[in-house]
Amino acid sequence: MKIIGKNVVEGIAIGTVQYIQDSFEELLQEYGVDDPQYEKLKYEKALSEAVMQLKVIVSKAKEANNNEQVQIMEAHLFMLQDPMLDDRINQLIELGESAPKAVMKASDEMANMLGSLEDAYLRERAADVKDVGKRLIRRIFGIEEPKIDREGIILCGEDIEPSLIANLSSDCVSGIIMGNGSSTSHAVIIAKAKGIVTIVGIGTAINDFENGTEVIIDGYEGSLILKPSIEEMKLYQERHEIEKQKKAYYLSLSELPAVTKDGFNVTLAANIGNPKDIDDALKFGCRGVGLYRTEFIFMGKKQLPTEDEQFLAYKYVVEKANGQLCVIRTMDIGGDKPLDYLSIGKEENPFLGWRAIRICLERTDIFITQIKAILRASVYGKVAIMLPMIINFEEIVQAKALIKRASNELTQSSIAHANNVQIGIMVETPAAAIMASVYAKEVDFFSIGTNDLVQYTLAVDRGNQKVSYLYDHFNIAVIHLIAQVSEAAHANGKWVGVCGEMASDPLAVPLFLEMGIDELSMSAPSIPKIKEAIRNCRRDGEILKHVLTLTEASKIREFLSGTILANNINDTIN
Ligand code: PEP
Ligand code: MG
Repeated sequence: MKIIGKNVVEGIAIGTVQYIQDSFEELLQEYGVDDPQYEKLKYEKALSEAVMQLKVIVSKAKEANNNEQVQIMEAHLFMLQDPMLDDRINQLIELGESAPKAVMKASDEMANMLGSLEDAYLRERAADVKDVGKRLIRRIFGIEEPKIDREGIILCGEDIEPSLIANLSSDCVSGIIMGNGSSTSHAVIIAKAKGIVTIVGIGTAINDFENGTEVIIDGYEGSLILKPSIEEMKLYQERHEIEKQKKAYYLSLSELPAVTKDGFNVTLAANIGNPKDIDDALKFGCRGVGLYRTEFIFMGKKQLPTEDEQFLAYKYVVEKANGQLCVIRTMDIGGDKPLDYLSIGKEENPFLGWRAIRICLERTDIFITQIKAILRASVYGKVAIMLPMIINFEEIVQAKALIKRASNELTQSSIAHANNVQIGIMVETPAAAIMASVYAKEVDFFSIGTNDLVQYTLAVDRGNQKVSYLYDHFNIAVIHLIAQVSEAAHANGKWVGVCGEMASDPLAVPLFLEMGIDELSMSAPSIPKIKEAIRNCRRDGEILKHVLTLTEASKIREFLSGTILANNINDTIN
């Protein structure tokens, strides 16, 4: 039986169902309520056990230097000890509810409240509150946490808890299927980081899954086959085998240069969100870091990270990069990445609001602390500072003055730091792209953030499914802007990179090459396929010239696909 969902982590996974029971209805029905005092004691005991469990998970994740997990699990600890949740549970128990029912009601209420918010990031946190509630209920019932101890498991559940995924080994779990979920839910973020093939959104069909049933996930198509036939199994085993060979082939490219047939070299760098990401990125053959999204150090916390905390994170990455350039972007908080403790307040249009450099130029204390940490880490390698969301010249001048101030303060305190870091900007607003020839005189480099550049140029919310058909990096307006930025950078002797998702689209490679883009930065698993595309290319300027005469994105794609195919056929013949 074939079921369609949404693909969130690509790949083929074959295994057997392990259903994660997260419904406690039957147990609750059988559960007799004790005196409220006794129910409160049961809740308090469960709470202290759950806090202990999470602390162990956090310390293991810290040992493994897995910052993403640390942040998420610390956020769970924070929620678990939230006084509002605690008050509500106690209140419900006093009103006569049993301890598990009170936990369930209180966490559902809080999740519903979060789920009704407009902000996509906060909406996703509803699943985290439910996760925390379920952990408490399991403690009250004395249910063991699910055990994942055999190979070839396909984990299935309506909402699989992020904490469960964070703790499992990808050696045992081949795939994940969820009834709910979206590409930005924490569970998926962790699955992606672990490289576990995942599909979400298959709806109530998930309730019919039985433990031990054979299942195939097609993470490219976003579908699954429950109880596959012998033919289907054979077909997917073959595809799985080809996929494994392709992975091995891609890894074998890691030492080869990213150079075109006519000898043009491109730096392929990694986008990272956590220090530990650099370890995997190196395996895929990255040459340095083109975008370190530092905002993740600020998220999932109760207060701002200290200078030392930031310094250690940056130092780890810079040392691991082993002399290759690390472009550290100053925090890009705001938009879809709010911070509870920063009182951004409710905004009508968060993507057009108090975000990134706008916050830093107002909260100079936060900016200076971050810059000091970056300058201190720069002693251990080669670093560039990148400013996000720049729209005007004054922002660049002001930010540079603050960087100078941070450097002077370090000198006055005799703290070792570098004085030679490059300073560049993200070109992710039409304003910055249009004024690139002027801004190029004030900075050392540009990195084009196509994710936002597409959203702001086309006035299309990058997270809104309803208008996603309009969100297209091959819109000709976007291509003209990118070409213009590249020309402006080179005319002023500066280098230019692309660090948005477009950098990992093989179809866009011939265009970038003919524009003379110097660096492409992307999530590490995409590096080999882009390297392969670059090594297959020969630049003669004709592709870009022709594309700039076209007006429809579909025609541009068609033309680029045809050119790449023709190129490959010619090479095979020659
Ligand atoms: C971009 O906008 O393209 C970019 C790389 O930044 P982010 O996705 O973090 O907004
Ligand atoms: Mg951006």
